[in-house]
Order: sequence, then structure tokens, then C-alpha cells
Amino acid sequence: MESYRGARTALIVGAGMAGLTAASALARRGWQVEIAEIGSAGATSGWGLCLTGPSLRALDELGLADPCLAAGYGMSVITHVDVDGALTDEVRLPRLIGAERPAMVGMARPALYRTLREQADRCGVEVHHGLTVAAVDQEGEQVRVRMSDGTLRRVALLVGADGIRSSVRHLLRLETAVAYHGQMVWRALVPRPPWATGVHQFAGKVNTAGLVPISDSRAYVFLTENGVEQSILPDDELVPRLWKLLAAFPGRVEEIRSLAAVAESVVRRPVLTAFLDGAWNRGSSVVIGDAAHAPAPQMASGAALAIEDGAVLAQELECHRSIGAGLDAFVSRRTQRCRTLVETSVAIADLEQAQRHHEAYPLVDACHRQMAEPV
Ligand SMILES: Cc1cc2nc3c(=O)[nH]c(=O)nc-3n(C[C@H](O)[C@H](O)[C@H](O)COP(=O)(O)OP(=O)(O)OC[C@H]3O[C@@H](n4cnc5c(N)ncnc54)[C@H](O)[C@@H]3O)c2cc1C
Repeated sequence: MESYRGARTALIVGAGMAGLTAASALARRGWQVEIAEIGSAGATSGWGLCLTGPSLRALDELGLADPCLAAGYGMSVITHVDVDGALTDEVRLPRLIGAERPAMVGMARPALYRTLREQADRCGVEVHHGLTVAAVDQEGEQVRVRMSDGTLRRVALLVGADGIRSSVRHLLRLETAVAYHGQMVWRALVPRPPWATGVHQFAGKVNTAGLVPISDSRAYVFLTENGVEQSILPDDELVPRLWKLLAAFPGRVEEIRSLAAVAESVVRRPVLTAFLDGAWNRGSSVVIGDAAHAPAPQMASGAALAIEDGAVLAQELECHRSIGAGLDAFVSRRTQRCRTLVETSVAIADLEQAQRHHEAYPLVDACHRQMAEPV
């Protein structure tokens, strides 16, 4: 079966934050958009994330900042606590969507995906699960895509939004290395203690821990384990191991530790980063989100870049006569901002591992301020 559906047709690979945002932003400008997502419907794991100001600003353009704030927990301050349990620093993040709304929001990932997916559905985007791309060829002004189910598409635009290990990036021969930084990060859902009204980060002698509220009743614990090999632990070892790692922290972490003993959805993931130097596009195809630039989670801003990419891509395609020119403009508008964030997140991860937390805090603060600049 072969389909060609006209000049403003887009196939997006990946229904993550970048893919769903790009899909809605394009569809709102009159594009006919289809998404191929390899995972099954509702497969998102239940851990939380923190959406900083630039994410909220980009979501606000799609009319989604308020639904996200309603589904999550709005906050404006990051509190840093040192190895002895003393408060050392408070970062007040810029309120990018107005003084009356919070600077950031903590959310459960499924709640964010639900919000983005409902918007895509409202915009008429078709989402196919269990589907991916097998081959890509530029044919004149169109991209010819062979799908994993044997069907063919001819579209004006192909967007690879398929994450750090992007297959589309590989099919377009836009190669980049994925780096591991000697850190494994933990996330665990726990009840929210009443004092947790912002992000708290605790520096330990070896590791870093913290707490982020994601609703009135729930929060997630995070822990960064330093200087370890990349590995996978059996599920039944996760809670006891996290509990043991949290025992090394004084003060409030002891309370968090007792909550972690009954945690749901405990995950442990490697800190991986990637940055695609040079072009992110070839012909009428482009990669966006983590497929082009994946920062370490220390700046809590990978989602911001992914969501912004979707919005900026649609804007640039709108104001250029050809897809190629629109994609060139998109890449040149995004490169420096994304490079700065990826490089800063790696520098913070390195300082964290070297226990040089006091040098990391101003870097975090300065980078958040830089990210607050217009996109
Ligand atoms: C532990 C951890 C904590 C984090 N915390 C934060 C945080 O608090 N705040 C923040 O802003 N960022 C955070 N990030 C980063 C953030 O999660 C990413 O930057 C963001 O998810 C990138 O979105 P994306 O859509 O580009 O990629 P992804 O979220 O990876 O989505 C890619 C999508 O493509 C699909 N896919 C993959 N391969 C294929 C294929 N071949 N064909 C079709 N579909 C495919 C996947 O199933 C997925 O749905 C964190 C990252 C990690 C690892």
C-alpha cells in the first residue's frame, strides 16, 4: 500500500515530548500529520519530571501550560542543602509565563503524555503504535519512507523524534556518539511531605539526592549515584538498594528515606548525553529533541528543549518557501542554545562527581537564566 497526501504532509517518528509537540504545532498550521510510535499505547513509565520555565513557555503557546499546572505541582524555588544538612543556596527561577503563575511544574510523566496526546488528537494528528521506519529515501521534493509493516509513505517532511538512540538519525546518516557519564540516576514515587513545596536537592558525601513534588499528594525522590558502571539491577533489588544509598544523607533525607521504603515505580537509568554536531537535517528530513541533543538530567531541561523544538520547527517551516530552507533556519536557530545546555549539563555532572557542588550551583543558576532568554 502506498500513500501520498499532498504538499503539507508530515510523518513524525516517535510520540514522545518532541514528537507530540511538533505534531500539534504543525497540525495547527494546517499540516496533515501522522506519527509512528514504536511503543504500545499507554506504555510510558510512571516516574515524574520537572518542567522548567522554557517548557512552560513553549507549552503555553500550545495552550497547554495551565492544563499541565493543573495536573502537576507548580513551584518556583530550588533549595540546595549541603552535606551536613545546612541550607546553602536557593535558586529562584524566572517566571516565564507571568508573575502570577509558577516558574516550573513537577509532573508525573503519564500526565504530561496524556495532555500532549489529547492536544494532538484534538488537532487531528493520526498516531500509530507498534510502528517504525525501515528505510528512508529523498525523491525529488518528497521523502519516501518504508515502514516496518511494509507500507510506504511519500511525505513532504520526515521528523525523527525518536529519542537519544534515534533510528531516523542513523537512517539519515547523521551519526553522533552517545556518552555515559559514570552516573546512574534513580527516581521513585512517594507521598509528598507537607514541607516539600519546591525542588530540594541534598549534596551527600558521594551522591546527590532530592525531592520534587508532582501533585498535592505525591512527589518523586531522585538520587544520583556517582562513579558507577552502567548496569541493570533486578526489580526486587531496587527499593532496598535505594534505601541503602539514602542512608548516607543526614537531616530531611532520613524522612525521605522512610518514604522510599514504600516507593512505587522505582527506576534507575544511566546518565547519557549526545549532541549532533553539524546538520540535523538532510533533504526534507530532520531530527529533533533527544535525537539531536540529549542533555544530562541535572539541568531538568531536556523536555524544555524537546518541546521548544516542536514549536520552533513549525514556526520556521511556516515562514520559508521550501522545506529545506525552513529546516536550515530551524537548525541554525536551535544549535547554540541546545549545545550550551548539553555542555553545561555535562559540566554540572562532572562537578557533582568531583564533590564541587559550590561551583555547580552558580552554573545551574546562570544556565537557567540563559535558557530564560527568548528562544
Ligand atoms: C532519568 C531522567 C530524568 C529526566 N528528568 C528530566 C526532568 O526532570 N526535566 C526535563 O526537562 N527533562 C528530563 N529528562 C530528559 C527528558 O526526559 C528528555 O530530554 C525528553 O524525554 C526528550 O524527549 P524526546 O521526545 O526527544 O525523546 P523521548 O522522550 O525519548 O521520546 C522518544 C519517543 O520515540 C519512541 N521511539 C524510539 N525509537 C523509535 C523508533 N525507532 N520508531 C518509532 N518510535 C520510536 C519512543 O518510544 C518514545 O516514545 C530526564 C531524562 C532522564 C533519563
